[in-house]
Amino acid sequence: MKKACVIGWPISHSRSPIIHNYWLKHYGLQGEYTRVPVPPEQLGDFIASLERQGLEGCNVTIPHKEAVFRLVTPADDMTRQLGVANTIFRRDGMTLGTSTDGEGFLLSLMAEAPCDLGAGPAVMIGAGGAATAIAAALVSAGCPEIRVANRTLEKSQLLRDRFGDAIRPVEYDSLQYALKDAVLLVNTTSLGMAGCPDLDVNLDRLPESAVVYDIIYVPLETRLLSLARQRGHRAVNGLSMLLYQAVRGFELWFGVRPQVTQELYERVAADVRGGLAT
Ligand code: NAP
Repeated sequence: MKKACVIGWPISHSRSPIIHNYWLKHYGLQGEYTRVPVPPEQLGDFIASLERQGLEGCNVTIPHKEAVFRLVTPADDMTRQLGVANTIFRRDGMTLGTSTDGEGFLLSLMAEAPCDLGAGPAVMIGAGGAATAIAAALVSAGCPEIRVANRTLEKSQLLRDRFGDAIRPVEYDSLQYALKDAVLLVNTTSLGMAGCPDLDVNLDRLPESAVVYDIIYVPLETRLLSLARQRGHRAVNGLSMLLYQAVRGFELWFGVRPQVTQELYERVAADVRGGLAT
């Protein structure tokens, strides 16, 4: 029986067990995936004890994504560049870490609303942790220009320092002007999430062909997405990113590359809706 888990502090909100246990059952695998609350002061001991606990590895969520990076060997250049890890696995006596948020974003975008990222600028709102992974993914996918509008301009400038001149910081208040010619608009801020104010953005200058992606998934339909749909844009919510970022971890721990299916989407979506209703 192979075992993995998700760690965080707190961790009760995590929907990763729904995803991985769905796949274990779907593929008829002997395995177990649980939630484990790990306080920051116990993170080092927990990571050092993976093998002793019989764990193949774990997912890592808030607040440990940066701290865990310093406790593991980066599995690839992208992870080394990002300085965070959300997926830990064991190989040849080593504990390795990788970051799957960027690939989760790209895979979900191409599955839900395929677009030619090389054909024009992308506009990204926000410059936090998720934005960093997405910026790196967009650059690696050949996006020629990523206009980054963040409340704190310095953080957009830091992204340019890290990922090069394809990153173009723009003033947060001028966001609507940056939408001209864009092939993709992605919100990576927490604005629009349950309990937060809505994102207020005028989409008039966004070409109708542009895809609008909101990485938030609680709620599934943010005000940005409903506005985008009303204007005829293809719109994608963050639940598919959550599902696709889980694919690599499952493959590393359980040896099968799983499919993201509509049935899985509906199962997690029902949990999100249920959580909002209570
Ligand atoms: P983070 O590192 O804390 O970044 C938060 C971002 O939101 C920053 O750019 C911040 O701007 C901006 N922001 C916060 N409050 C704002 C306000 N009142 N006005 C304008 N901007 C504001 O958080 P994160 O980890 O990147 O997560 C961001 C969101 O993405 C969360 O809703 C999270 O649930 C979601 N997420 C989804 C997935 C997925 O798989 N779908 C994965 C990761 C994260 P400043 O820099 O100015 O503070």
